[in-house]
Amino acid sequence: MIPSEHKIQSVSEQKIVVFTDLDGTLLDHNTYSFSPAIPALQVLAARSIPVIPVTSKTLAELRPLMSVLGLKGSAIAENGAVIKRGDDSIDCAGSRSKLLSCLANLPFEIRSAMRCFCDMSAAEIATETGLDEAEAALAAQREATEPFLWGGDETELAALADALTASDFRLTQGGRFYHIIPPRDKAAAIEVLLAQKTPRPQTWALGDGPNDTAMLLAADRGALIANPHSDAKNLLPDGHQLYLSAKTGPAGWRDAIAAFLGSDFG
Ligand SMILES: [Mg+2]
Repeated sequence: MIPSEHKIQSVSEQKIVVFTDLDGTLLDHNTYSFSPAIPALQVLAARSIPVIPVTSKTLAELRPLMSVLGLKGSAIAENGAVIKRGDDSIDCAGSRSKLLSCLANLPFEIRSAMRCFCDMSAAEIATETGLDEAEAALAAQREATEPFLWGGDETELAALADALTASDFRLTQGGRFYHIIPPRDKAAAIEVLLAQKTPRPQTWALGDGPNDTAMLLAADRGALIANPHSDAKNLLPDGHQLYLSAKTGPAGWRDAIAAFLGSDFG
């Protein structure tokens, strides 16, 4: 009797962890407001369900945001390359020094065709990205990835991709900027965090972009938040079980959490 009671109790009390993208998901795509999500955040906090940001932002950008959002504990930054654990220790996939020495060892023709964040002042980054200068300074405080503008040709770009792969980095393109990234994405970073948790918690994941779909599909419950600027929905496999929100940003986030909790926050 006792073992089966224990089993029932452990299932009903299985811990839940929420992993969430920020821009276009918990934060409005244009205004960065999260007010429609506040009731959902409050219910999760009251139930001691942690909310872990999983974002392309740097830790320097993330820290003040987490404080505004009332989030403490772990976080995943730079698209999975950087993990901040609850004790504030940092786990980087591919260190900054390794990335900088990889850049320093590139052939001159290739390196001179790159304009990296580390080559630019905060004012220049602000001009190129549309961030204000204070935000640009935070975006420049990178641990494990490096955005750059490319001024070379396709052959040189292919040579750059090969050189990065040889140093265990990857090349990816997002909008105007290319990015040097280590081989650890958002979904893989979540696995690193979960590997230390026994028993494994139930995972919920929310995101709006193509770089979120792997973590949404890997989670026990995933929600794709509507975003008219994203083609993530078209990238989902047939028969997926994701919740698709009707609303965008934090209103969609709130609806997804309500659906997962089976509660509508009154
Ligand atoms: Mg997003």
